[in-house]
This record gives sequence, structure tokens and C-alpha cells, in this order.
Amino acid sequence: MSQLTIALTKGRILKETLPLLAAVGLEPLEDISTSRKLTFETNQEGVRFIVLRGVDVTTYVQFGAADMGISGKDMLLEHGSEGIYEPLDLGIARCKLMTAGIKGQELKSGRIRVATKFVNVAKQYYASQARQVDIIKLYGAMELAPIIGLADEIVDIVDTGNTLRANGLEPRNAIADISSRLIVNKAAMKMKYQQIQPLIESMRAVIEASAG
Ligand code: AMP
Repeated sequence: MSQLTIALTKGRILKETLPLLAAVGLEPLEDISTSRKLTFETNQEGVRFIVLRGVDVTTYVQFGAADMGISGKDMLLEHGSEGIYEPLDLGIARCKLMTAGIKGQELKSGRIRVATKFVNVAKQYYASQARQVDIIKLYGAMELAPIIGLADEIVDIVDTGNTLRANGLEPRNAIADISSRLIVNKAAMKMKYQQIQPLIESMRAVIEASAG
């Protein structure tokens, strides 16, 4: 059997991913959350995890450096999914990509400024609304932008809405429902079919069973 590399997304997605992988019999040999390592051997010989920021998971899978990965749909929408299959919606880490702005403040007419790290998603969304925008790329703390006057709206991930509320913002329009997806490099799917296909099928079974 050849080596199989699975790219996982750090942080909140990882917490929900590990139980799912354990349910299909795949477990890291050491505790990922307390380790500073980036690669982890698993209880299955030849299968290893690499742990990355979400934005890098699609890149590793796209280039085939990882055979498979678990990525938020937000990352797939933003970075595109060329060279990638997306066989399964894992139904975990659910949230929404939304526009948001200062609570109670009506959006001015005409051209507006939008701050986001989801530049491509935002461009497409406002174009679909026939709204002229200047997009400002930020790498974090998007909520600050409307408060300080950098932008009229933001496009960001909303789960409970607590982060928006804590900053005096309100959610406005939903752009997309987000959840984590199993992704597979297209070439790896062909070359390592015997290893990858059973893994997809057992993950599918676990998800279907938990969906009741
Ligand atoms: P909340 O305050 O619950 O609306 O969470 C908002 C923040 O948590 C967002 O700004 C995101 O950075 C992060 N977040 C929440 N859910 C997810 C998710 N499923 N994937 C990635 N980031 C998330």
C-alpha cells in the first residue's frame, strides 16, 4: 500500500473531525491538540495526517501533496476546487457566510466598501446583487472594519452571531451555508482508489447513521 496523506484543518473544525475519523477507525498516535508537530502517524500503517490552516488545506490537496483533506466549504468557494473532488458533505462545523454591518444603520446607496478575507466570494455575491463595491482584503478581525469606518459592510462567517453582536454589528444577507467537506485530489482518487474509496464509503456510512 502506498502512503496516504490526509490534510486536516486546525482549530474548531479539527475538534469535530477527529471523532468522525475515529468512528471509521482512524486515530492519530498522539494528541494533536497538545502537540506542536504538523504531521501525525495514525493507527493505520501508511496513513498520516497533516494539520494545516484551512486556507492551506485546499492548496495541499490541489497539488496532490495531500491525497485527501477536510476543508470548510468557505475555503472551497473562495479558492476554487480545480483538481479536487468533493465527495462528501461531513455536516460538521456548520455556519453561514453572511454580509454584516452596523446595527440599525441603513446601507447607503451607490458604491460601498466591503472588508473581508473572502474576496472572491464577496465579489461574486455583490455582482449578483448588481451592487458596485470596492473590496478590501483583511486577514482577521473583520468586525472592526465597519466600526472604525474602514468599510460599510463585511463578509464573514457567522455561527451564533455572538461575535457580530459583541461588536455592535448585525447579520444581513446569507451568502452560503457552510459545512466541512471531504475533498480528494483527482489524480490520487485514480491512483489510490483501493485505499481512498473504502474510506469515503465508511465515512458516508457514519454520517448517514448519525443523521438518523
Ligand atoms: P459566532 O460568534 O458564533 O458567530 O462565530 C463567529 C466567528 O467564529 C467567525 O468570525 C469565525 O471566525 C469563527 N467560526 C465560527 N464557526 C466557524 C466555522 N464553522 N468555520 C470557521 N470559522 C468559524
